Amino acid sequence: MKIPLPTHSAPVSVGKVLCIGRNYADHAAEMDRDVPDEPMVFLKPPSALIRSGAAVQLPSQSRDVHHEVELVAVVGRKGKGIARSAALDHVAGYAVGLDMTARDLQAEAKERRHPWSVAKGFDTFAPLGPIQPVEAVGDVQDLTLQLTVNDETRQEASTRHQIFPVRELVHYCSQIFTLSPGDLLYTGTPSGVGPVQEGDRLHASATGLDPLSVSVERPE
Ligand code: MN
Repeated sequence: MKIPLPTHSAPVSVGKVLCIGRNYADHAAEMDRDVPDEPMVFLKPPSALIRSGAAVQLPSQSRDVHHEVELVAVVGRKGKGIARSAALDHVAGYAVGLDMTARDLQAEAKERRHPWSVAKGFDTFAPLGPIQPVEAVGDVQDLTLQLTVNDETRQEASTRHQIFPVRELVHYCSQIFTLSPGDLLYTGTPSGVGPVQEGDRLHASATGLDPLSVSVERPE
């Protein structure tokens, strides 16, 4: 899939989809997990991506798919070993996103010490809202993230409660991966995660960003 970047004249292909686990203390607590002392990184395949207006497809392998609303940073400039002071210069824009998670498969993977690639990586498990330029956002660590399901608020929190701010996440990930234009960074979810059902309408928003709307379907 190609996405438009505010800093580029032509759309670019989505590269890595980096995701951060347990980046809000209240979510770590609801999952009965300790707060990590360094960022917990996992990846989703680019094939998981869908845009606003599309539908999350519930996979037959899971009976418990959860929503996780997240701020997404979109990389606009290539870099490796990026200093904290330069980290935000590598971000082209922001979007609101959903890290859809097969919670039952994730619990099983945790128990068996297996990776999360299956629980997090199904097709349609990475909805991404419209990408806005950095200037539209203001202070990225002072945004209110919100998710409603069928018009009922399920998640609401400020990005000021992130354990590792966006600057730190870009710095940290770039020690491991070369970051390139079109890479996405899902920065973790606050508390309030829960299951979605066939027919649900999910509406995710964040201050200064255009909202993301997806429906939920179960394929025949
Ligand atoms: Mn997440």
